[in-house]
Amino acid sequence: MTQTEKSHIEQLKKAAELVRIDASKLTPAGYMKLQEDLYEFVHGAGIGIVVPIKNLTDKELRNWKLFPELFVKEAIDLLKEQLGKIAREEGGFTIQIKELSGAQIELRVKDKSSPFTTHLATESVQAVSYALFQHLAGSGLIGDRIQICRLCRNVFILGSHARQDHDHYCSTRCSRYAATKIYRAKAMLKAGKSIAEIAEQFDLDPKWLEAKLKKSRRSRRQRKRA
Ligand SMILES: [Zn+2]
Repeated sequence: MTQTEKSHIEQLKKAAELVRIDASKLTPAGYMKLQEDLYEFVHGAGIGIVVPIKNLTDKELRNWKLFPELFVKEAIDLLKEQLGKIAREEGGFTIQIKELSGAQIELRVKDKSSPFTTHLATESVQAVSYALFQHLAGSGLIGDRIQICRLCRNVFILGSHARQDHDHYCSTRCSRYAATKIYRAKAMLKAGKSIAEIAEQFDLDPKWLEAKLKKSRRSRRQRKRA
């Protein structure tokens, strides 16, 4: 993994955390951190944000490294929607940014001894969406590394080192909680409950639970034989 890929993956992991935040419940300091994180997410993808000055607060006019408050909710909702769609897709797909408005393409050169770079700047919400695309494309990750947690249904990013044949959860908390649920599900299965009943009680996908329970029975048999 290159340094660039690593930084894209870090931004993707951060985005998966950002979409879980309820912005209306943040303290002023927490909210400002969210604005900084969103700015970093966009800036880190090499994308600029076009915002009419009238849409900026006084604080944002003084500190331009803040994502504009006016667009925070919309941007987070879109990020959540797109990450969820990417994680849920079973095969190939295309996602578009509709009607790229206010887009500007710039050619830049720092000084006469520097190379040229091109730079796209768009309206705030579209910039977040395009940044997501750029981080994904630059991350070197394959499609199925964007996953939905079996337990809490949050989107999370599975690092490229993680084994694909193992079950993964968004957090150690969910992974421990899953182990407890499966342990209890096994006991209930023994006591005569059906998989459908158990899945409903624990709010789990029945197919997945069935595979889980079968797998653990199989591995027990294999251990006995060994
Ligand atoms: Zn989870």
